[in-house]
Amino acid sequence: MDSVSIVISRQATGPTPPSTANAMAPNALRTRVAEVVAQMGKPPWSKRIIADERQLVTLIASPPAGGNRPHWHREFDEWWVVLAGQLQWELTGNIVVQAAKDDIVWVPRGAVHHIVNVGTEMSLRLAVAMPPANHYFSPCEQCGYTDDGPREWCA
Ligand SMILES: [Zn+2]
Repeated sequence: MDSVSIVISRQATGPTPPSTANAMAPNALRTRVAEVVAQMGKPPWSKRIIADERQLVTLIASPPAGGNRPHWHREFDEWWVVLAGQLQWELTGNIVVQAAKDDIVWVPRGAVHHIVNVGTEMSLRLAVAMPPANHYFSPCEQCGYTDDGPREWCA
């Protein structure tokens, strides 16, 4: 397997005001989650909050029984902070992780993760991934979830 490297093309040379910040996402100095939720409305939706050479941070809302397409990542570990609701991660190896508000979930590279809102309210999770965040679709070995989408995609 080829190794992967990243290029940091813009580097700070000293203390610098945050002039590269945006008024709106991504890369606002402050994001009020409640305002994003109000703007985005009914789930499912996702909103990129932070993006740079090393991180892609996305706020993701799912309705009850909703979730992601099961997939795995080749070169990075992914983690989430649960901000609302009851979520379940079904992972390769028959591992199930239940998580609720304020829980942090970490999944290493290579593990298929199928994330499902198992509660009765909208779930909200902040996902931290690394660009280019290639996704490799793989059916969930636990629940059998599969679909006809692309085998590989980039978030
Ligand atoms: Zn992922």
